[in-house]
Amino acid sequence: MKKKFVIAIDGPAASGKSTTAKQLAIKLKYIYIDTGAMYRASGLCTLLQNISLDDEVALKEMLDKISIKIEYAKEGNRIYLNGEDVSERIREADSTKLSSQIAVIGIVRKKMVELQRKMGENGGVIMDGRDIGTVVFPDADFKFFMIADVRTRALRRWKEVKDNGESITLEEIKEELIWRDKNDTTREISPLKQAKDAIPVDTSKMSIDEQVQYIYNKIIMRNKYE
Ligand code: C5P
Repeated sequence: MKKKFVIAIDGPAASGKSTTAKQLAIKLKYIYIDTGAMYRASGLCTLLQNISLDDEVALKEMLDKISIKIEYAKEGNRIYLNGEDVSERIREADSTKLSSQIAVIGIVRKKMVELQRKMGENGGVIMDGRDIGTVVFPDADFKFFMIADVRTRALRRWKEVKDNGESITLEEIKEELIWRDKNDTTREISPLKQAKDAIPVDTSKMSIDEQVQYIYNKIIMRNKYE
């Protein structure tokens, strides 16, 4: 590959973004940045420090001091919040809900976007989230927007959760996804939406290998002719 690209992958929860991005990063030898994990870590931080989401002064103080680090590993990145490994904790139900609630707050988004731009400034990154192609890197070299029908997404998430030993019904997962989609698409600041120049990828009937190959081919094809 000639150039180290910035690749943006956006889309709703459980649309296949992170699984695809992770495998693509290995194939391209790029760094994978999961921006959802950063919102999850910020939400968890308010919980650990007992900060109300309405308390702007305390939130600002928290954000001024916050440290979110991603350690890149082949088996899956590790996320550190203020030096503590919270990789598993941020996937629990309370952190999931909080992540979507904290993601509507302007000062939180400003801080996360600042960190994300720094992480991606040298290229060679695949970043997934909700606003990467629209706000964080509007000039990204590649933008993909992944979608899948809600039942497929709920089933995928349910299987993941079950494998981790958590007990939650498929119906509960589906409700949580619908609630988060609504919250993410209707918020005032940086709502989830497809960038005009993003390539849509409907993964409802695709296997993981097909998703990865589809995006990989798009990148390789264009790179060949530039
Ligand atoms: O991707 P993930 O499901 O881990 O994201 C958790 C939450 O973080 C989302 O529901 C969304 O509210 C928020 N988020 C965001 N912008 C991003 C990434 C995630 O608002 N770039």
